[in-house]
Amino acid sequence: MPQSIFSIDVEDWFNLSGTGLEPPPSQWDRIESRVERNFRGLLELLADGGATATCFFLGYFTRRFPHLVREAVAAGHEIASHSYFHRLVYEMSPAEFHQDALDSRKLLEDISGRPVHGYRAPAFSVTERTPWFFDKLAEAGYRYDSSVFSARHQTGGLATGRYEPHSVQTPAGTITEFPITTARAERSSASCATLRCHRSKNTRVSKNACLRGQSSE
Ligand SMILES: [Zn+2]
Repeated sequence: MPQSIFSIDVEDWFNLSGTGLEPPPSQWDRIESRVERNFRGLLELLADGGATATCFFLGYFTRRFPHLVREAVAAGHEIASHSYFHRLVYEMSPAEFHQDALDSRKLLEDISGRPVHGYRAPAFSVTERTPWFFDKLAEAGYRYDSSVFSARHQTGGLATGRYEPHSVQTPAGTITEFPITTARAERSSASCATLRCHRSKNTRVSKNACLRGQSSE
């Protein structure tokens, strides 16, 4: 089997946190969902390539489409959490964040039958406004995180100076952080895609954001 590092945030087209356009969760049941079709398309692509991925599920969709979690498990993919209702971390209190992260992990473990260790924050919303983030994540039972966006981002961005996987010590245990991949874009090497999302030369930009036209995460 080929080696791969790939992750999917399992959410829907209306999960637009930070844009002011995301409907409240109380309306989500009545909105057309495209996540089943699109997620299954990704699973087929991964199967064709003989690759596996980490699937960061929203708790809401885990509850609404539990069969998608089970299908991902059956195909050999890792299950992880993308929060419960896609709320921005910096718009929650520490207690609210802890409960949200705990609820989503427990639900995912109930549905998948597997331990859930990983977390990704909606829209990479871990910033200087959330200094308690890693403490609360460890208290909620997680072992690793992939939320830190080491470049400017509309709803995130945390200048840690660390761009490689590293450990974060907390009173509740160690969290291994896998920062979102970034690349330094120099004026002479900026690509067409890069130009869409970087604002000035010598800034760090996200490869993923560039490829996606800086859509919401
Ligand atoms: Zn998201």
